[in-house]
Amino acid sequence: MSEWKVKLIEKIERTEDIKSFRFERPEDLKYLPGQFSYFYIPKEEGGELFHHFSFSSSPTEPFVEFTTQIRESEYKKRLNQLPIGTTIRISTILGNFSLINKYNKVAFLCGGIGITAARSNIKWAIDSQVEIDMVLLYGNRNLNNIAFKTELEALPAENFKVFYILSQPEESWKGWKGRINEQFILSNVPDWEDRMWFVSGSPAMVNTIEKILTDDICVPMHIIREEFYIGY
Ligand SMILES: Cc1cc2nc3c(=O)[nH]c(=O)nc-3n(C[C@H](O)[C@H](O)[C@H](O)COP(=O)(O)OP(=O)(O)OC[C@H]3O[C@@H](n4cnc5c(N)ncnc54)[C@H](O)[C@@H]3O)c2cc1C
Repeated sequence: MSEWKVKLIEKIERTEDIKSFRFERPEDLKYLPGQFSYFYIPKEEGGELFHHFSFSSSPTEPFVEFTTQIRESEYKKRLNQLPIGTTIRISTILGNFSLINKYNKVAFLCGGIGITAARSNIKWAIDSQVEIDMVLLYGNRNLNNIAFKTELEALPAENFKVFYILSQPEESWKGWKGRINEQFILSNVPDWEDRMWFVSGSPAMVNTIEKILTDDICVPMHIIREEFYIGY
């Protein structure tokens, strides 16, 4: 079993309640884009707490990072309090929610925090100059809840497009409204048959989207990859 001790170097506010936690990356910590790991944090009174997180960083970046919504759970409260410089433990890298298999065209479908594994893959593909056509369909509550928005919009547009849908948008919002649905998918991804589909987020969301893809649009299951953020 692989294990690393890593130092917290930065906490980055992505939205009012979503934060990234960035750590020094040991040279021998190797992972594929979109993989996840076990993150053990020290309790004040001794002992540890752990959660799984997908890496929101890309293997092309010199640090490792995960991103989460800060809630009132024991783990998240402790995580949020960790001083910069704290050493935590990362153990076991798992998952195959990864672009590494050289697809020509892909579509990422994610709601809220599901962006983490997608961001890792998209950043990896762009940094590695992989020839791949990528579309991101990204559902959130409102404009202020969109994690990584500025970064996603600054990515080179030749091989990457992002479309948002908002369930409780600001009055000024002129784009798609509601939750990810058949019409939103078909309008923005007319070549859906040619793409590999990557769906990530809470189990409820991934199951709902899988149903829309397979039952309504007739996307065959073998071109769908899923990452269930169990516990979310
Ligand atoms: C592969 C994978 C990738 C993930 N990636 C992310 C990510 O990038 N960002 C992110 O924020 N979260 C991610 N998660 C979810 C994360 O591990 C936490 O479960 C989640 O953030 C909720 O934590 P909490 O402290 O707010 O809730 P908690 O208080 O810990 O849990 C809420 C409820 O879920 C149950 N639960 C918690 N964890 C699990 C589990 N592993 N299996 C079964 N039940 C569980 C608890 O018993 C409780 O009932 C991922 C999970 C998996 C499995």
